[in-house]
Amino acid sequence: MFNYSISTNCLAQKTILVTGAGDGIGRVAALTYAKLGATVILLGKTVKKLETVYDEIVAQGSPEPAIIPLDLKGASKQNYIDMSATIADQFGQLDGALLNASMLGELTPFSQIHEQIWQDVMQVNCTSQFLLAQALIPTLSKSKNASLIFTTSTVGHKGRAFWGPYSVSKFAIEGMMQVIADEYENSPIRTNAINPGATRTKMRASAYPAEESKNLPTPEEIMPLYVYLMANDSLHVNGEVLNAQ
Ligand code: NDP
Repeated sequence: MFNYSISTNCLAQKTILVTGAGDGIGRVAALTYAKLGATVILLGKTVKKLETVYDEIVAQGSPEPAIIPLDLKGASKQNYIDMSATIADQFGQLDGALLNASMLGELTPFSQIHEQIWQDVMQVNCTSQFLLAQALIPTLSKSKNASLIFTTSTVGHKGRAFWGPYSVSKFAIEGMMQVIADEYENSPIRTNAINPGATRTKMRASAYPAEESKNLPTPEEIMPLYVYLMANDSLHVNGEVLNAQ
């Protein structure tokens, strides 16, 4: 596991957006950031799941979160611009964005990839991440030091048979992260990517249905890297892919 000792309240006064905050790693990241003092903005597709996370955050005594229901598959450029403006209006600034939501699509031989699945995966995992990042950067720039975090995968730097569009989309994410990190090197924004590694979530179970999931690390166990990259201890880190495990 990535070695970082988390200090109480290390994210106090920060406002942090988490995409895919209703389930899996994003849910636990949102709960963790809130527990450490951050005001968390929960973005996701299924409102009911976001409401449950909202209630859990309030119940643990953390700052009151906000909810943004948005389907990354259908959202337009204007939706992202409006969202970023609303965040700037309501919170004044944004100190962190964890771009975590993504979809797996289908694991299938390359010759049988459906064009529609290709386009959906590219839309959710790549184009929407571009639109989100582009819209959020002006609001992130209002922070003294902001952290923009993308989410990659081992198949995002080494292609793997049958992982088709998902693998290609994660290669694109690593490229996008490097482009932004280089362009904004002398700005208050640092940009990095997390590779969570095999983690016990629904996405992992659908990719490996025969696997014994209880042997996998939980999202809670991989949180040290997620906190490190949001906390001020990582101010000097830019343009890196870091492994949570
Ligand atoms: P899950 O499938 O458990 O959760 C994904 C989250 O993304 C859900 O909250 C889901 O919302 C949301 N989401 C999916 N599609 C959309 C959409 N169109 N619009 C808005 N939100 C959407 O995945 P994980 O927690 O496992 O994965 C989190 C990240 O980590 C992903 O980027 C994944 O690629 C990456 N990753 C995960 C690994 C693992 O082993 N788990 C390994 C390597 C990388 P809803 O529940 O409402 O559908």
